[in-house]
Amino acid sequence: MTLDSLQLQSVNEPAKQAAEYSPGRKPGVCRPKRTFGATEGRKRNLYRTITPLFSVARCIWLFAAVLLLADIARTQQQQPLFSQKPAAKESTRQRYQIQLKLDFDALSYSGSERVRWINRGDRATSALYFHLYSNLRPDPASGNAGSQAAEAQEPRLDITQVRSAQDGTPLPYSLDDQGTTLRVNLREQLSTGQSTEVVLGFKGSVPEIDPDETALTTHVVKQLSAALRGEREMRRPRDLNFRCRGVMLLGTSYPVLAVRDGDEWMRRLEPSVGDMIFNEVANYEVNIEVAPGVIVFTSAGEDRAESNSQKSAVFAAAGLRDFAIIAGRNLRFEQKEIEGTTLRSIFVAEHERVGKRVLAMAEDALRVFSSKFGTLPFKTINVAEAPLVAGLGSTEFSGLQVIASAFYVDFDSPAVRNLPEIIREQRPSVEESLEWSVAHLVAHQWWGAAVGNDPAREPVLDEAMASWSALLYFKEIYGEQKTVTVLQDQLQGVYRLYRTFGGEDMDANRPSRDYRNTFQYAAVVTTKGTLMFVDLQRLLGDEKLLAAFRNYYRANLFEIAELDDLRGAVIAEAPLEQRRAVARMFNRWLANKRGDEDIAKPDQELATSLGLPAKPNQQRGGDRNALKPFARLGKFFWQQITRIR
Ligand SMILES: [Zn+2]
Repeated sequence: MTLDSLQLQSVNEPAKQAAEYSPGRKPGVCRPKRTFGATEGRKRNLYRTITPLFSVARCIWLFAAVLLLADIARTQQQQPLFSQKPAAKESTRQRYQIQLKLDFDALSYSGSERVRWINRGDRATSALYFHLYSNLRPDPASGNAGSQAAEAQEPRLDITQVRSAQDGTPLPYSLDDQGTTLRVNLREQLSTGQSTEVVLGFKGSVPEIDPDETALTTHVVKQLSAALRGEREMRRPRDLNFRCRGVMLLGTSYPVLAVRDGDEWMRRLEPSVGDMIFNEVANYEVNIEVAPGVIVFTSAGEDRAESNSQKSAVFAAAGLRDFAIIAGRNLRFEQKEIEGTTLRSIFVAEHERVGKRVLAMAEDALRVFSSKFGTLPFKTINVAEAPLVAGLGSTEFSGLQVIASAFYVDFDSPAVRNLPEIIREQRPSVEESLEWSVAHLVAHQWWGAAVGNDPAREPVLDEAMASWSALLYFKEIYGEQKTVTVLQDQLQGVYRLYRTFGGEDMDANRPSRDYRNTFQYAAVVTTKGTLMFVDLQRLLGDEKLLAAFRNYYRANLFEIAELDDLRGAVIAEAPLEQRRAVARMFNRWLANKRGDEDIAKPDQELATSLGLPAKPNQQRGGDRNALKPFARLGKFFWQQITRIR
């Protein structure tokens, strides 16, 4: 079976129809240069323009808002303001054909990839840029300068050859930005609409991670440190590429084309507390060779007709934004066919009961979201546990969601006795948090995977949409009353605790580098962004907000969207007299510091009656005493601190 035969019919037509509701980038069309008077490359961010006006004089702001609405209305009426090119056919999409040989026991792999790239820009180009995410270091100076021990704790990706796929001749290339960017020089200029194929050889390695780093106690202590001391956290490539407890995760194992925005390559990679991967969609066909006995799952489904089960397996899928691999000898799975999609839960043998529960929750989430937002273009959706390091509760790829094994707690099993009592007492909270995470992660297949956005520049976009979707899941499955409790537990509670322990209110639409750690990120970005949708829901009603989400989904499927696209979709659904209120809500929740008024005030009583304890002990798993000094902080505190973030 070829990738082109996996064609996603019925996707382009509704997308085109829905596109007019969203002022954003249209399917298969390069970023419009003039949507809102944008300058080079990026669209002007509307509410950032509005914010200073608001603080100067209310009347000026109102005038600006009227202009904004007029602008949006004009965009909708005079469609299109920019040249409407035909939607990109799937056959003109980027394509990766990867051969990967995985040496599970030696923590290494080697491979080659044939990559097809089409120039969808306006100008000819003679260079391609790839990201080698595995080589990103939080502090490049120290990483390169020599700490070999630190370097051994990180994955590595090296290029072994670069050649033309047409005639096999070597192509000149160079590595920049501390080895995170590969520039390939083409022999000839590639003009607009033309495609080229190159072959890259590569090899890589991953670190073995100490199981203690991934224990539940360690996750909890890490959250304590973030809450009490504002400890800084950075995502590192080792968070996504490692082997630990017999499970290997390869999140960024191959060179991947950088995003091209119009004629500009988005080369900049910046470590932060947010997601590091930002790719365009592509079709994938990946052949993986492993030793017998090692079980492999990936972002794509296995193509059994092509696989030689003795030696290798072939995985293929269309329209993926990344391709992640999870492997191990002890992995089990349960799966279910749901309206043509294979939904699979992957877990280690001792977590079977939790793994089955996760499948049931994921099934409910998939059904709810498919009916409310539209069906996903993916044929396989996996939810897997993996021993993620403390500080990272979950992570998402196209077709593959990962939750830290630490939170796969089977409270009915004898092994649970090894956990500190203070954590065992949080059973309802830990279990609800797992359900919240499953719903949130499944929703990321719509918001983040199918519709992309830049997680470094506008992390609030997919985060808030995924969390609001999780609320929708609880409402559909358990009803209104439970949803109110979950909203308090999962969203308002973390903001209240964050403020109680001295965290400052911040605006929620900042780039992810501006947030110190996942605790702050959850309190500000996730909570405020999600509560904005709750507010909009109150203003417009469920049906209008859902229609906006649906239209945004159809209009931006397989594309990279921006906050303005979503704002446009919501405003388009709002009656004329409410449009100003919608614009104001976006502004209030995302660009202002009104959290204490709108969410919760710091809990002075909690803070003063208990006093702030000294800093937590070193982060070692299994240390039953590490949490003792904090036991008196009470139930509310512990419920918050044992959640998946
Ligand atoms: Zn998320």
